[in-house]
Formats: sequence, C-alpha cells, structure tokens
Amino acid sequence: VTLCDSHAHLDGSEFAEDRDQVIARARAAGVERMLLIGLWRKPGDFGNSLQIQESHPGLFGVTFGVHPHDCAQVPPEDWERLSELAAGTTVNAVGETGLDYHYDHSPRDVQRHSFERQLALAAELGKPVSVHLREAQADSLAILTASGIGRGPGGVIHCFSGDANVADRYLDLGLYLSISGIVTFRNATTLQDAVRHIPLDRLLIETDAPFLAPIPFRGKRNEPAHVKLVAEKIAELKGIPADEVAATTTRNAERLFQLR
Ligand SMILES: [Zn+2]
Ligand SMILES: [Zn+2]
Repeated sequence: VTLCDSHAHLDGSEFAEDRDQVIARARAAGVERMLLIGLWRKPGDFGNSLQIQESHPGLFGVTFGVHPHDCAQVPPEDWERLSELAAGTTVNAVGETGLDYHYDHSPRDVQRHSFERQLALAAELGKPVSVHLREAQADSLAILTASGIGRGPGGVIHCFSGDANVADRYLDLGLYLSISGIVTFRNATTLQDAVRHIPLDRLLIETDAPFLAPIPFRGKRNEPAHVKLVAEKIAELKGIPADEVAATTTRNAERLFQLR
C-alpha cells in the first residue's frame, strides 16, 4: 500500500518532541507521500516545513500560504516573503488559503482579499491551491469561479465536509475534494453520502494533523499514519478494496501537486 496524506501540519510545537517517530510511524503504515502545509505563524515566520522536507528526501511536498484566520495580521513584507517562498522549486502549491466564516478570526473582506491574492499568486506561479472553506459557500464559489481556477493548475478543497450537491459545484470547477477523519465520525452521514457520490479519481485523503483525528482516536493529537483509517472508511462506503482507494488517491495527489 502507498498512501498520501495530502494535508498535514507537522511543523508545529505539537510535534517538536517526537516528529521523527511520527514520520517513522507514517512510513510503517504505508504513507509514502505527505504534503506539509507551511503557514504564516507570526511576523517573519512561515515555520520550518522546508527543513523537514529537506531532512527526509522524497517524502514530503510543501505548500506555503496565509490561513484565513491569520490574514488580517500579516505585515506587507510577509506577503512579499510568501511570493518568494511559494516560488521555490521544491514548493508544490499555495495554501492553505480560503474563507472561514465560522470563526471569523479575520474580517470577511480581508479574508476575501487574501484568498483572491493567493489564487492570483498560484495562477502566476502555475501551481495548484489548497483551499480551506467553512460556512462561506456562496463567496467561495464566486471567488473560485472568478479566479479561473478550472483553466489553471487547479486545486483541492481540503477537509471537504459538504453534501453531494455542494461537491458537484466544486467538481464542476475542476477541483479535487480531500476527505479527512471527519468521514469516520458516526454523525457524518451527509459527508458519507457525498463520498459515495464523488468519483474516486477526484478524491484525495488527508489527516489535517494535528487536528481531526479519526475514530478511534477522536479528540487526540492526529498524525499522518491515521490517514490509513480514512482510506479504509472510504473503501467501506464505496464497496471497493482499501488498496484501490490508497493507490488512486495517491496518484491523484501526485498528479495535482506534481509530487515526485
Ligand atoms: Zn484548513
Ligand atoms: Zn490545515
């Protein structure tokens, strides 16, 4: 089995003590690809995803972006820095960027501007986008459509948790949908129906580690090894072998993010 965790935050303090063991457990579980999400953390600081990538050749892709939670705090020079980092030859995508109207940690107009700006950066660089969306359906569809994302290198709605109709809107834009451990939760029946509906060749899988641990680890720190449980749940829902889910979602991620 070869699995790809298409969205993991491994550069934080949650993994400072045992990052190498976490990576070893991932490999032991068959996770041969991971995408590190490199986010703006504080002025002048986009984390150490590049160093993690460098110390494990062939294992990690990297993204850089500004999360909608933080976009109002980013000083002008760090937007410049983002453009430089995202242009790096070992950097696969821009993001995560998007809209989060659930927490509203940044004003909504600032979130929209930040999202548009990062979509434009991705288009300019010819790289795909990792998109975070929560309770911002109408605005996100309008901004993604206006960005012309379907004509460029595309992107993924990470941690997709909508229904089958919502899924179709994003599939129509040419986007991939990435499924997290939420799909294993007992009350996630709407998402489970959506997963049955979405074609396998448009699905990615992820942990969003350290967040959103799947059953039976719900509430604990999440880690990339657990992406296996997401693949198994999708296999159960679609009535196909877990190896097929693993192989196809890995191929999808490799294609989208040009992992090699
Ligand atoms: Zn997110
Ligand atoms: Zn994330």
